[in-house]
Amino acid sequence: MKRDKHEKLMDLAKRRGFIWPSFELYGGVGGFYDFGPLGSVLKEKIIRKWREYYVIREGFFEIDSPSILPEEVLKASGHVDHFIDLMTECQKCGTPFRVVDVIKEVTGEDIEGMPREEVQKFMDEKHVRCPDCGGELGSIFEFNAMFRTMIGPGTKRIGYLRPETAQTIFIDFKRLHRYARGKIPFGIVQIGRGFRNEISPRQGIIRLREFTMAEAEVFFDPQDPHHPKFSNVAGKKIRLWLASDQEKGKTETMEIKAEQAVKNGIVCNELMAYYIVLTKHFLIDLGIPEGAIRFRQQTPGQRAHYSSETWDAEVLTERFGWVEVAGLAYRTDYDLRRHSEFSGEDLSVFLPEERRKVICHVIEPSYGIDRTFYCVLEHSFVQEGNRTYLKLKRELAPIEAGVFPLLNRDGLPEKAITVLESLRLKGFHVEYDESGSIGRRYARADEVGTPYCVTIDHQTLEDDTVTIRDRDTTAQVRVKIEELPKALNLLLREGAALQDVGVPMGL
Ligand SMILES: [Zn+2]
Repeated sequence: MKRDKHEKLMDLAKRRGFIWPSFELYGGVGGFYDFGPLGSVLKEKIIRKWREYYVIREGFFEIDSPSILPEEVLKASGHVDHFIDLMTECQKCGTPFRVVDVIKEVTGEDIEGMPREEVQKFMDEKHVRCPDCGGELGSIFEFNAMFRTMIGPGTKRIGYLRPETAQTIFIDFKRLHRYARGKIPFGIVQIGRGFRNEISPRQGIIRLREFTMAEAEVFFDPQDPHHPKFSNVAGKKIRLWLASDQEKGKTETMEIKAEQAVKNGIVCNELMAYYIVLTKHFLIDLGIPEGAIRFRQQTPGQRAHYSSETWDAEVLTERFGWVEVAGLAYRTDYDLRRHSEFSGEDLSVFLPEERRKVICHVIEPSYGIDRTFYCVLEHSFVQEGNRTYLKLKRELAPIEAGVFPLLNRDGLPEKAITVLESLRLKGFHVEYDESGSIGRRYARADEVGTPYCVTIDHQTLEDDTVTIRDRDTTAQVRVKIEELPKALNLLLREGAALQDVGVPMGL
């Protein structure tokens, strides 16, 4: 059987140290993945890019708080009562299923958001049976997808692993508002692990039980939902798939300028439209092609309990179809109001110029980093003839340059090591390889997306020059060793072209 792109990519990802299923030694547990030596660096670089967008450019403040939350927080947030999946179990083989997933798998239909009463009827009418053994499925029941634990000994204090990082941002609202000098709008971000006890995760890294999220909560006055930099994005086009079209079974999307989408009432306000455009740019910046990005409006039944409007940023993949990599939710004043009620603390703010009190509303762009990671890998995977490589953006590549002696003798390895060490001291993530032919070493470097290879040859010993080879074009230039750090810096961080940093060589 011919292997598809996903299988080839996952083979590469496991073999070359990007990702692999966790706990393999003990047979593995679904929904958990390890990031290997290269995967960890790539993931970190995706997060760094996210910080560039939200912390540096938007000027948002970052916090870092616990992953375990006491029950009262999640009672107030509604997760104890509403973070529920409908489940069923095979009566024959005992396999548990998330109802929405098993229906999708068996019938191809997406029933996310269908009222509970109708779901059972739908299952019966369609004769949905166990996809594993064909057995009958039992009646549906509710399952809270949070991991429950105890805080301290005994069972007095219940805690949960957080299902989202957002909640502690709401809890800390007063301190953070003060830190922002009492001004709104302001934004707070948190990057960290989220947990969701998925019933039967079958989609590899797309559906994880422990995942990394990057969330931003933008607090604003509901009477003034403007972004100060909206004019920068007003004319940018966004591709939307409206909830009303989905409900009619229409698969067409619409392209519209951000400004127009707000004016026509398609997108709720400027802030939402601004972060939709920002998300699109972020994904493009990671190497996702514009044509593989769309924003799907969740239907009322699909939305989380706290949201009045949600847009999912989706990326088209070969194996999984359109994958949600980020959700932009209009959480209104839901969370702050609920935490005010449950804690007894007044979490409203006073607007001195207008002499009125307001509970801030919230727009939340929330990104799944692991899914984004997968989409970046899939979209960078290139097969040309018998050459396979990852065309990762230069600034994302886990290894920035390979350093190779042309031959494993004549003093070339020793010289190459001095070059390697000098680059490491300058902060470059470089790797040394001396085994096998130079062609095979180039191929190995290309396979993991290393954008440049520096080769030390006999000429190096005469005139202290080395070659730099480009992954995508395989073109080479020659540069002086003393100028190598500057050249790599221009290539990796300034987007310079290869011919601008050295003397081109004939092939
Ligand atoms: Zn079964």
